[in-house]
Amino acid sequence: MTERRVRVRFAPSPTGALHIGGVRTALYNYLFARQHGGDFIFRIEDTDSNRFVPGAEEYILESFKWLGIPFDEGVSFGGEHGPYRQSERRDIYKKYVKVLLDAGKAYIAFDTPAELEAKRAEISNFQYDASTRMQMRNSLTLPKEEVDALIADGQQYVVRFKIEPNEDVHVNDLIRGEVVINSSILDDKVLYKSADELPTYHLANIVDDHLMEVSHVIRGEEWLPSAPLHVLLYRAFGWEDTMPAFAHLPLLLKPEGNGKLSKRDGDRLGFPVFPLEWHDPKSGEVSSGYRESGYLPEAVINFLALLGWNPGNDQELMSMDELIKLFDLSRCSKAGAKFDYKKGIWFNHEYILQKPDAEIAQLFKPVLADNGVDAAGYTDEYLTKVVSLVKGRVNFVKELWGQAAFFFVAPTAYSEKDVKKRWSEDTPRIMTELMEVLKGIGDFASKPSEDIVIGWITEKGYHMGNVMNAFRLAVVGECKGPHMFDITELLGKEETLNRIQRAIEVLK
Ligand code: GLU
Repeated sequence: MTERRVRVRFAPSPTGALHIGGVRTALYNYLFARQHGGDFIFRIEDTDSNRFVPGAEEYILESFKWLGIPFDEGVSFGGEHGPYRQSERRDIYKKYVKVLLDAGKAYIAFDTPAELEAKRAEISNFQYDASTRMQMRNSLTLPKEEVDALIADGQQYVVRFKIEPNEDVHVNDLIRGEVVINSSILDDKVLYKSADELPTYHLANIVDDHLMEVSHVIRGEEWLPSAPLHVLLYRAFGWEDTMPAFAHLPLLLKPEGNGKLSKRDGDRLGFPVFPLEWHDPKSGEVSSGYRESGYLPEAVINFLALLGWNPGNDQELMSMDELIKLFDLSRCSKAGAKFDYKKGIWFNHEYILQKPDAEIAQLFKPVLADNGVDAAGYTDEYLTKVVSLVKGRVNFVKELWGQAAFFFVAPTAYSEKDVKKRWSEDTPRIMTELMEVLKGIGDFASKPSEDIVIGWITEKGYHMGNVMNAFRLAVVGECKGPHMFDITELLGKEETLNRIQRAIEVLK
C-alpha cells in the first residue's frame, strides 16, 4: 500500500479575531505539512450564520501573511478541492445528508423547541438518543406519508444522526493514544437544519475532510469530545479506510494559576492574545495584537512552537526551517502548556539581537517618525550604527527610542541626579580644556579619540570617572548609554563640541 499524501487543514470559523491558540494550531499543521512535503489547506467553516463576524476571514488571512505561514490551497489560495468556504458548499452537504437518510443512519425530526422543552421538563437529564427517540416526533415514529406531508407543507425539521447505543468507540490520537468512549453517552446530534438549509459543524467538517482528502486532523483539545462522533460519522459513510489520523493539541493555560488562557488574562497582565490588533465591529472594542505591540513574527512563531512541544533537548531558538525539520507530533505534550508571556518577550529580545542591524534600522524608522524625527535626515548607515550600539538593551524595536533619542536630539535638560554627582565647580574649565583636545583630533573615530582623551586625562592627573561622566552628561544629558567614544564618533566632532559648549553654558 502506498503511503497516503499528507494533507492537513486549518479550518477556523470566522467568529472574530483569531486567538493565539488557533495560531499555534495552524503553525503545527504547517510544520507537519512542510516536513512531509504535504499540503496545507485553509478552509472557512462558516455554517453557523449567527456567529459570523464580518472582517474575521480577512483578519485571519492577514495574520498568517504577517506570521509567514503560507497555505497551499484554500480560501483565497485556490485549489482543486474547492470551494473552500463551507457556506458555498450547501449542495454538497445536502447530497451527503441524503446518503445517510437513505441508509437509515440518520432520520428527520420535527420536534419544535417547545416540544423539546416539554420533554426536558418531563425527563430529567433528557438526551435525544436511542432511549428517547421513539417518544419523539420524527421519521422513526411517524408514518412515511405524514413525514412527506409535513415536509411538503413547509414544516421545519432537522436531520439527526442515529447513534447505536452501547458500543465502544475508539479514537486513536497521535498525542493522547487510544481514547475509548461508549456511544450511549452521545446524543443524536443534529447534522442539518432545514431552516437555513445548512449542515452543522460536525457534518460539514467530516464531509469536507473526506472530500478534501485530509490525512491528519491536528486541532485544539477542545475538539476532542467531538472526535468519537466524528469517527462514527466516517463509519456511517463507509469512509473508515481514509479516516484521517487525529492529534488533539494541549490547551494553552493561564500564565499563573489554573485554567484556560483567556483574553482577560492578557488584559490584566498586559500581553496580547491576538496576532494582530482587532477592532470588534459590533462592540467597537479594540484588542491589542502581537504585531502592533512590536513583536517580530519570527519571535512569535518560535515562542508558540514551544508551547506544547519541545525538540527533546533544551534548544530554544529555532528558525522556521529548523522547526520544520525538528517538529514531531509524538513529542507534543498531553498536559496543558502554561502561556509564559514573559518568555515571549525574551524571544523578541533574542530575535532583535539576531536580526541584522540594517533590518532593525528599517523597523526603527516609523518609531523615529512617531517621536518627531524625520528619518530621511539620516543615512541608513547612521541608523544602522545607532541600532548596533543600543539594540542589546531592548526587548522591542520601539524601546530603541528610549535608548537612542540623544543620537537624534541634543539634550536640552540634564539629569539632576547626575549633575549633582558629576558636575562640580571646576567642571566647566575641564570641559573647555576637553573641547580643545577634541578639536585637535584628526581621526574622530572611536578608538583614536579614546586614546587621545584618556591620554590627556591621565597626563593631567584628572579624575577619570569625573571627567568622563561630565563629558557623557554634556553629550547625552544623563550618565548612561553605550561606549562614550562610539557615541562621539557617530555624532561627529562639530555636534560633540556644540553639546559640550551648551552644557557649559546651561550648567555653568
Ligand atoms: N471550525 C473549527 C474551529 O473553529 C474547526 C475544528 C477542527 O479543526 O475540526 O476550530
